[in-house]
Amino acid sequence: MKKFGYYKKLNARQRRIYDQSDTVTSIRLPAVAPLHDSATRLALALGADDRAATQTASQRLVDGLLHRLRVMPVQVHVLAVRPTSRREELHGQYQYGGARQRPLITVWMRTAQRRQVVAFRSFLRTLLHEVVHHLDYQMLRLEDSYHTAGFYKRAESLYRQVTPAELQAGPEADDASMEARGAGRAAPRGAPAEGVTPTSRDSSAAAGKGLRRRPAVPVVAAGGEPTRRRTPRRKAAGPAANNAPEQPQLPFLDFE
Ligand SMILES: [Zn+2]
Repeated sequence: MKKFGYYKKLNARQRRIYDQSDTVTSIRLPAVAPLHDSATRLALALGADDRAATQTASQRLVDGLLHRLRVMPVQVHVLAVRPTSRREELHGQYQYGGARQRPLITVWMRTAQRRQVVAFRSFLRTLLHEVVHHLDYQMLRLEDSYHTAGFYKRAESLYRQVTPAELQAGPEADDASMEARGAGRAAPRGAPAEGVTPTSRDSSAAAGKGLRRRPAVPVVAAGGEPTRRRTPRRKAAGPAANNAPEQPQLPFLDFE
């Protein structure tokens, strides 16, 4: 599988993690019909510009998905308008570790610029992108969660499974598509996972962070903002994480 440009800046340990990430190309979900129902509710809530209902539907969808994979749950927050105080617009983020006892996914309903409600498919892709970060840690047991070709394939495989055909149809006339799809970055999908670590965020265009534990590494700073996470990620040691499976749930994974 093609390596993204930042691969050559990774050290041996990081490359090993990256390579592991690349090997899993899809995650299969059993019994997806109820997830289609959740996705449909999500589309309706988003279309109605109803933040509370969007959050409820998003949480339900993610709960159902993780339950099927026997992975610890994650809390989902849907906020109104994307923050603007950043160089790149934030679409979603995944946080876990540090003082945070439960993993949290945050997604935004509206673009910062025009304040339009994010298109359904963009929104769902962003949500699932963050879910894949969670799965990287809690299911694949990766030490870090990089944006690799395998990562994007996993995210897309989830998207294809949870989205009813009628909602997948039609042109993809979305705004910025999704977080790491690259709001305007030269190599949007090439940067290291930004939010990859606990207590970190997923910035749009993968702000080149994510080399957790080495916040001072130049590559880490490539995305602009300072990285503040330093908590060793294996927060998986927390009580909640004990519910997570010891080993990756191999039956759900497709390896390349
Ligand atoms: Zn990401």
